[in-house]
Amino acid sequence: MTQQLTAERLTTARGVERLVNGQFVMDGAGVKINRVLTQTLQRRLDPFLMLDAFGSDKPGDYIAGFPEHPHRGFETISYMITGRMRHKDSAGHEGLITNGGVQWMTAGRGVVHSEMPEQNDGLMEGFQLWLNLPARDKMSAPWYRDIPSEEIPRFVTDAGATVQVIAGSSHGVAGAVQRDGTEPVYLDIELAAGASFEQRLPPGHNAFLYVFRGEVTVEGKGVPSARMAILANPPAAEGVRIKAAQASRVLLIAGRPLGEPIAQLGPFVMNTQAELHQAVDDFRAGRFGAA
Ligand code: FE
Repeated sequence: MTQQLTAERLTTARGVERLVNGQFVMDGAGVKINRVLTQTLQRRLDPFLMLDAFGSDKPGDYIAGFPEHPHRGFETISYMITGRMRHKDSAGHEGLITNGGVQWMTAGRGVVHSEMPEQNDGLMEGFQLWLNLPARDKMSAPWYRDIPSEEIPRFVTDAGATVQVIAGSSHGVAGAVQRDGTEPVYLDIELAAGASFEQRLPPGHNAFLYVFRGEVTVEGKGVPSARMAILANPPAAEGVRIKAAQASRVLLIAGRPLGEPIAQLGPFVMNTQAELHQAVDDFRAGRFGAA
């Protein structure tokens, strides 16, 4: 049963620092993606490294999928709104991510995995977020969890919001995944026309919204569909307040910055160039195993 909760009331809320259009890119074996959080924003949105949005009912945009490829040094969080994708990895994990489900994978010291569609037609829509690991955890053992839609904690508020708590917590509801170090908050917020939602966030945490239905306003600034809004970090702000004039749906993502050097080479994210060279050597020598 979905809990009914009283909406938060914040006195001071964060504004929008800026709006970001994604970049259309091809990734995997030829999957069309809107890369919303690009490499140039990694420092500003530390600990988040990437957010990809995909959504198409043309099989040619997704059917090729993401055949075997490696990752090291961070976590990938896939959220499938509509569609079916199968994951297999070198740590022995396999799972099917379907409508409303989340897959949380900690690559740690390295996995080789594949992410392949299990549908030949129809809509596939979802997101993949990359969350950095603290230096001390980059070479940890790989970890994996499938979270079907019905296991994601959710609640509704008396202000017209329906909220799924993928990570962190909201209104006292603990999410499906908790992480020390980066303390991620990952919410999927559905707002009825005229509804609002407020979320408490520590001022030091970096935070952003991605609107994927409708249009919302944050402290008077409009955020249209398919845009990311980077939220400002004023020290006095208690959190963020989102209002929807029309039915809308928004991802709200926030985390504690690591403040560590970020070195990225494709699917490897470490702290130094030497660690990247080591990752390439280890992958080429087969030390990640095979999917
Ligand atoms: Fe991958």
